[in-house]
Amino acid sequence: MNAVTFSHPRLDAALKNTRRDYDMFIDGMAVKSADGRVLERCSPAHGVLVSRCSQASVKETDAAIAAARKAFDHGPWPRLKGTERAAVLLKAADMIDARREEIALLDCLEVGKPIAQARSEIQGAADIWRYAAALARELHGESYNTLGETALGMVVREPIGVVSIITPWNFPFLIVAQKLPFALAAGCTCVVKPSEFTSASTLLLGDILMQAGLPNGACNILVGLGAEIGPMMTSDVRVDMISFTGSTAVGKNAVRTSADTLKKVSMELGGKNPQIIFPDADMDAAIDAAIFGGYFNAGECCNAGSRLLLHKDIAEAFVARLVKRSRDIPVGDPLDENTRVGAIISPRHLGVVENYIAAAVKDGAKLALGGGKPGGNALGDLPGDFLEPTILTHLRPDMAVAREEVFGPVLSVLTFSTPEEAVALANSTIYGLSASVWSKDIDTCIFVGRNVQAGTVWVNTFMDGFSELPFGGYKQSGLGRELGRNAVLDYTEEKTIHIHTGPRTSWWLPPKR
Ligand code: NDP
Repeated sequence: MNAVTFSHPRLDAALKNTRRDYDMFIDGMAVKSADGRVLERCSPAHGVLVSRCSQASVKETDAAIAAARKAFDHGPWPRLKGTERAAVLLKAADMIDARREEIALLDCLEVGKPIAQARSEIQGAADIWRYAAALARELHGESYNTLGETALGMVVREPIGVVSIITPWNFPFLIVAQKLPFALAAGCTCVVKPSEFTSASTLLLGDILMQAGLPNGACNILVGLGAEIGPMMTSDVRVDMISFTGSTAVGKNAVRTSADTLKKVSMELGGKNPQIIFPDADMDAAIDAAIFGGYFNAGECCNAGSRLLLHKDIAEAFVARLVKRSRDIPVGDPLDENTRVGAIISPRHLGVVENYIAAAVKDGAKLALGGGKPGGNALGDLPGDFLEPTILTHLRPDMAVAREEVFGPVLSVLTFSTPEEAVALANSTIYGLSASVWSKDIDTCIFVGRNVQAGTVWVNTFMDGFSELPFGGYKQSGLGRELGRNAVLDYTEEKTIHIHTGPRTSWWLPPKR
């Protein structure tokens, strides 16, 4: 979107305190692009220029990888004690807390997400940095003293090396927090590339890490186009691991690019997550969760509960109440404290979502709610890209909108008669990121919990999360898990040290008599 001249008192006040020009961050220094290119980002809600970042080419990418390699091979970071690494991560967490408002504002304006939501994401991110700090001190191996008198086995953990971290635009600060502090806790060094749309808060993190005492080169941050610099980040022989969050298509491409040098890969990809609701559920709570799951972050969420699987006996009444409640959701200016659904990330993406809706309607689906731009006074004079909460019914499971990731505030309703049918429907996509089951019957909940193919199954709740609980996908939703107590292990290599004690038994001579 091009910047338009648009003035708004709330926006002017907000932007006054926001830094507008950003450099990349390589080897501990602010770096401008050699070719002078700049990536500009406008707020998708307001159409106003928010940030201008120096844009990396292959040249800066090469420099960032070289800096990370040097910092890993010769720098202090991988050699520090766990307590020392933990101290830096804890300091960073404190500074994230101290700058919460500033960071939240950047994500709010660059993504178009509600400011109150952005604030709580930054708070959540600080908690993850603290959790990673705790794990930095917990990283240990195993020993085997059970191998006989002549052997002692040690299995030690070493940092894997240089990690390329690539993140999407929907939760810029939160998603980098699911990767970077764990890689750093393990002693790795990193090259980070946020989405081209939402680089500012990650660049601000570079500032924080320097002030927290991270050595030069341990974390390098590039701003650039994935198509241009991504291939180098995922194929260069100096990189040992890729930690990627984004679409399944781009993730698969990154795995392909990395194959020649056989890098370790960690992939957090798309989802088409079912919320399965049985007749004995707490209906108020289930409706609330269905709304939250469908429209949180304007549905631009890998974890969105965009497939609503309703038992036939309650479907009609549930949809009627859902429609009524959905009409009241505050959609509009992300800077308004009351807003719950903000803008869509770009006009192009809005078009993709609208096409899904139009194709479904053409194919026989019914629009129970929404499908267009919010009307009335919801948007005031905002020129940006918005979509009202949308509910589609009368769908067939084979329709694209019922099984593909739409990434907009769109709930697709399907029905079932038995728990077995619900599970079969839930499992009938290529994805397996998360699911929820709503019932007061423990047997029903356990049946669904055991049989749904998903990395997370919520029981009588939706999209709750804790740093302690692993997160990731089955099937084409990903490879590996983030968070949880094994999160740091992912960024390590295992090495066996086998110690022989006493005289050697010869391979070919018979034992001495
Ligand atoms: P994309 O896959 O388009 O982009 C993700 C990142 O990859 C961006 O930084 C992008 O850069 C970069 N990229 C693009 N091309 C390449 C390439 N050839 N090599 C390496 N990197 C590349 O996803 P979006 O940013 O559009 O995010 C939305 C997607 O992310 C959704 O499908 C969603 O489900 C998924 N997602 C998954 C999550 C999970 O944890 N499972 C969490 C959040 C989102 P650039 O911005 O320049 O294109």
